[in-house]
Amino acid sequence: MEINRNFDTIIAPITATIGGSVSLIRISGSQAITITDQLFSGSDLSNKDGNRFYHGQIKSNNEIIDDVIVLLYKSPNSYTGEDVIEISCHGNPFIVERVLQLYLSLGCRMADPGEFTKRAFLNGKMDLLQAEAVADLITAKSIKSVQNSLIYIEGKASELIQSLKDELINISSLLCFDLDFSEENFSIIGHNKIEETIQKSLNTIISLIYSYQYGRVLNKGTEVLICGKPNVGKSSLMNALIKRDRVIVSSKPGTTRDTIHEDVIMNNITIRFIDTAGIRITNDEVEAEGVNRSEAAFNKADLIILVIDISEKLDHDDHSLLNKLTRSYGSNMIIAGNKIDRQTNNFSNKELESTGKPFIKISAKTGDQIGFLEKEIMNKLKKNSDMLSEDIIITNQRQFNILCKTKESLLNALESVQKKYGFEFIAVDLKTAIDFLSEITGQISTDDILNNIFSKFCIGK
Ligand code: GDP
Repeated sequence: MEINRNFDTIIAPITATIGGSVSLIRISGSQAITITDQLFSGSDLSNKDGNRFYHGQIKSNNEIIDDVIVLLYKSPNSYTGEDVIEISCHGNPFIVERVLQLYLSLGCRMADPGEFTKRAFLNGKMDLLQAEAVADLITAKSIKSVQNSLIYIEGKASELIQSLKDELINISSLLCFDLDFSEENFSIIGHNKIEETIQKSLNTIISLIYSYQYGRVLNKGTEVLICGKPNVGKSSLMNALIKRDRVIVSSKPGTTRDTIHEDVIMNNITIRFIDTAGIRITNDEVEAEGVNRSEAAFNKADLIILVIDISEKLDHDDHSLLNKLTRSYGSNMIIAGNKIDRQTNNFSNKELESTGKPFIKISAKTGDQIGFLEKEIMNKLKKNSDMLSEDIIITNQRQFNILCKTKESLLNALESVQKKYGFEFIAVDLKTAIDFLSEITGQISTDDILNNIFSKFCIGK
């Protein structure tokens, strides 16, 4: 493996500096070992084997800074591919700071966000899919997403993309070969075979694109918006769902003036419940601001729970909300008929049932049927996961965007095949699709793209 020796030596804490009993500091680059030899009393690391740990002290002018364990990795057998030192010191921010300052004074530089992983990528230790999975693994908001990131890091997603690429390259070369012999009046590949191969690749790409809908939820968590007119019991429902009292529950309309959210983990997925301000025309400016915010939140939400007070007859506000929401967000909506404990015979469920949306009667106050509502929420999310055909789930927006562009190119190629256009037309679209697939794994990339990706990493990764 060709390691780039021109990079300078970088350092960063790779664990949280406050709160843990141990802190890890990582140093990577050609000076990592020689600088450590000047500070570490335990061993002459330049002459020691890599992939080992050594016990000793970090000292400055004979003053002991800390008693540490040093992990030594020698290039290319390290995370970044360079010489790497990891210092395990006591988890005190003063100690971490002093160690950092000593290394900086001897020629190290603080690592930029994601710089260790960027070097791993540039030194060929991993491709872009694997690098992005490292960041996703840290921020994953569900067990499934953690598992998915590990599948990526293992290289399974890269293998899938590479196999798609290989098939398209294969067909492309046959097409080009065919074009070279176009004068000879014979063809080594038929339209049927080309169509079959493109369609197969397209199917895989479409299911990957489809998986993003679920992948986004797995990785970022999901947003469930609780809305309804004032006083129907939104805050009470939120309390019932998060199972503790935080939101002010009051019988005065308009008390919940802003959107308030709580994150809970249900069935291994992080769900953010958002309690919105009641939607109604109001002269109260503060409340109006809250109303605007709840409108904006609708567009972002993965699921909307419309709360209706079924202890009273539906009024004009209920009707207009119901119409508006079923028209705009119908597929992602559940209607919660609240205050079942006070429902009288005067109330007819027919109108709510006729919307065709899941309609569940609950009591946020007594907790009656809240479990059933939770099940319905999970059903809505699970529907997406049951339809996945690939083991690999796309959780990353960059990858999703490029897959959409790949799909377009393949659809164009397919159209050319079906219309029996010349092979040169098909070859152009296939080449574009192949280039997009190379962009996903980072075989084709620019500095701007890489900077954009790695700047979103945390420091020390
Ligand atoms: P919001 O304005 O929609 O957030 O409504 P709140 O959650 O503040 O509730 C308004 C009033 O309705 C409060 O007095 C609650 O105690 C009451 N309430 C909420 N849910 C129920 C319920 O299921 N049954 C009954 N009887 N009262 C409820």
